[in-house]
Amino acid sequence: MSEWSWSATRRLVHERAQGCCEYCQTCEANTGQVMHVEHIDPSGGDDPENLCLSCANCNLSKAAAISASDPETGEMGPLFHPRQQVWSAHFQWVDRGLYLAGLTAVGRATIQRLQMNQERVVIARRRWVAGGFHPPGL
Ligand SMILES: [Zn+2]
Repeated sequence: MSEWSWSATRRLVHERAQGCCEYCQTCEANTGQVMHVEHIDPSGGDDPENLCLSCANCNLSKAAAISASDPETGEMGPLFHPRQQVWSAHFQWVDRGLYLAGLTAVGRATIQRLQMNQERVVIARRRWVAGGFHPPGL
């Protein structure tokens, strides 16, 4: 009963995030693509406190990184940690939800490293915004 299982962990992570990427807020319901269970710190193991739900774009762009440079200052710093930090303290939607802007060095470095405003995603976001399905929580 208390045995660890990856499928139960996966379900917990998915439900906790309500099916949306904990970096860029892209929702599975908008893409129809399977979401990834991401290891926030690649060396941190499978504890749920080291896991978050991530879209493929963010997960593949982040890869094994835990830090990146702030495009404004060029200084290296930590990437956003979805379990330890509050999303809205580091990111905000601009241009009606088409683009993410970083409010902090953490936000800016994460947006750049994870390519959260890449053209392909913005094209999709334009459709979600037009349909009233993005950004989440509005
Ligand atoms: Zn994402």
